[in-house]
Amino acid sequence: MHTIQDIDHLTGQRVLVRCDFNVPLDSNGHIVDDARIRAALPTITYLQQHDARIILLSHLGRPHNAADTQFSLKPVATRLAELLNHPVTFINESHGPRVLNIVNTMHNGDIIVLENVRFNSEEKGNDNERQHLAHEYAQLGDLFISDGFGVVHRKQASVYDIAQLLPSAAGFLIQKEVTNLNHILNNPQHPLTVILGGSKVSDKIGVITNLITTADTLLICGGMSYTFLKAQGYEIGTSLVEPNMITFAQQCLTQAKEQHTKLLLPTDLIVTDHFAADAQPTTVPATHIPATMMGMDIGEHTRQLFNTEIQKSSTIFWNGPAGVFEFPTFAHGTHALATSLQQATQHGAFTAIGGGDSVTAIHQFGFQESDFSYISTGGGASLNFLEGKLLPGLRVLD
Ligand code: AMP
Repeated sequence: MHTIQDIDHLTGQRVLVRCDFNVPLDSNGHIVDDARIRAALPTITYLQQHDARIILLSHLGRPHNAADTQFSLKPVATRLAELLNHPVTFINESHGPRVLNIVNTMHNGDIIVLENVRFNSEEKGNDNERQHLAHEYAQLGDLFISDGFGVVHRKQASVYDIAQLLPSAAGFLIQKEVTNLNHILNNPQHPLTVILGGSKVSDKIGVITNLITTADTLLICGGMSYTFLKAQGYEIGTSLVEPNMITFAQQCLTQAKEQHTKLLLPTDLIVTDHFAADAQPTTVPATHIPATMMGMDIGEHTRQLFNTEIQKSSTIFWNGPAGVFEFPTFAHGTHALATSLQQATQHGAFTAIGGGDSVTAIHQFGFQESDFSYISTGGGASLNFLEGKLLPGLRVLD
């Protein structure tokens, strides 16, 4: 992979940087968590120090079109200026003659944030649409730096097609993500424990299939664990289940046994009779969920069981909450997992959290980035990477 450090001459160059500024916003449009903006700073600062002219592209949320102004990147530009202590110009378009005029009057070290690339449907369009838009972007830059790790698994104009039109390289965030994920995938210190939670087995098929041979232990929790419990023939009441994944779950259980990979499921669960923040929690054995109840979190025994495995491990990868952490009553299992990983980090284990909802949860609980070895900025991208897939946005940087 070409890297930003490989580029000899940056002075005066117009450098287009694809970032992932997809930050959570509250109902007033204020940034709730600026971790993704901070993750982009090493690349931006490096370009500034090398007197480049810096043009930043990103998406935010899933807007339908430019009328979805609540997804504007303007607040991101404001926050970025604060973090850099340097002026940042925001332009309310992402391409076109007006943008080109402004870009051509930039001075060395200037920074521009363009408007949300997803305001234009061509960003995620078919090959022709994406290439058309990528040609527009290409007019704005002499070089392209890819640094939005959260989108490198997507074939999108500002991620994939643009890299085929301009000399391209990976920024510091992508390099860091790839190094850390490669460490888990290809060179983990054993025992390796993989913890998978979240709502769906179907999102995790690739990761399970790829890591079931490398991992020493697989801990399955969250909404996806009920499909595994059902695959073992247990009553799961009204819990989340994917009927078309039961056979896959059975195959995993068999394969794990044959390969001596320890696959552990919850032994006790916090259940309730309806899905609500104020629903009454009850603990039951995982083998005996009452027919009218749904599983919402892992129980105390499971938390201890999982903790024991985590503390025995040298490498731990975690993706997906253990329960419905958005409701405080059912967040204790996810909190316990985060605490276990924090302790393991303190004892020298390499702990990685794979983006998405687990990262939202640890921030909600008040954990710091330094409590873990590495927190990925990309949920889907990190899972796709650990599936062993060549991601389009990385492949084009070769
Ligand atoms: P995912 O997007 O697949 O990572 O799943 C994250 C979501 O799974 C979160 O919104 C959690 O509330 C949800 N989740 C975790 N455990 C459960 C559960 N036992 N029942 C229903 N939803 C769950």
